Amino acid sequence: MSGSTITPWVVGNWKMNPMQANAQQWVEDFTQLLKEQVIDSQSCRIGVAPTTLALLNIKDQLKNSSVDVMTVAQDVSRMAGTGAYTGDISAELLKDSGIDYVLIGHSERREIFGDHPQILNAKIKNALSAGLTVIYCVGESLEQREAGQAEAVVLQQICDIAAVVETEQWKNIVIAYEPIWAIGTGKTASPADAQNMHAKIREGLIQITSEGKNTAILYGGSVKPENAVELAACPDINGALVGGASLDAKSFYQIAHAFAQSK
Ligand code: PEP
Repeated sequence: MSGSTITPWVVGNWKMNPMQANAQQWVEDFTQLLKEQVIDSQSCRIGVAPTTLALLNIKDQLKNSSVDVMTVAQDVSRMAGTGAYTGDISAELLKDSGIDYVLIGHSERREIFGDHPQILNAKIKNALSAGLTVIYCVGESLEQREAGQAEAVVLQQICDIAAVVETEQWKNIVIAYEPIWAIGTGKTASPADAQNMHAKIREGLIQITSEGKNTAILYGGSVKPENAVELAACPDINGALVGGASLDAKSFYQIAHAFAQSK
C-alpha cells in the first residue's frame, strides 16, 4: 500500500496498432476479464487510446463493459474548431464525438513528428478549452540522462505548459513520465529511479499549482505485468501509460489490477 489518495490511472496506448478486427477482439477479451473480476473505478481508472479510426467503434463497444473504460485520443490538432486543415482533428471535434481524454506530447510525436513546445502548448490550450482532460507526456532521452540532465529536462517540460494552463484547468491535467530510453525497449526505470523522478515532478507541480498535490503522475516505459506490482507500490507513481503490453488484453488487465490493488 502506498498511502496515496490519488486514484491510479492505467491507460493503454495502442499507437498505430492493431487492425480493426483485433481491436474488437481486444475489447471482447478485456471486458470479459473485467466481468470475471471487477476492477472498481474508485480503485483504478482504466483507459485505452486506439487509433483515431477505431476510437468511436471502441468507445461504442466499451459501452457494454461492466466497468467504465475511458477512450483516449492519441493526439489532437494544434488548430482549434473547424476549418481548412486537411488531415487534422481538433479538440472540439473530439469533444463533439464524445471523446473526453487526449494524450499530448508523447515522445514519438515530439521526436518523429516535430511537436516542439510551442505546438504542444497550442494543442494543450485547445484541448483544455474544449473541455478535454490532457495526459501530458514528459521524459528525457538516454543522452540527457547520461549527461545528468534528466531532472532539469523533465521539469522544463512541465514548466513549458504552465504558460497555457489556467489555474482552474490543472485539475484536467494528468502527467505521464516516460523516459524515452525505456519506451518499447524492454528497459524499465528501476522503481527507485522512477519514484525519485515522480517525487521531483510532484515538487515541481506543487510550486506551479495548488492542484499539484492531487495531480496523477503516471509512469510509462516497458510496463508489464512482471514489474507493475513494484512500480505501483511507489508512493508518487499514480498509474501507468502502457504501450506494448496494452495490446494484450490479459497483460493490460493484470497491470490495471496491480495498480488497483496497491492503493
Ligand atoms: C508508450 O509508448 O507510451 C510506452 C510506454 O510504450 P511501452 O510500454 O511499449 O514502452
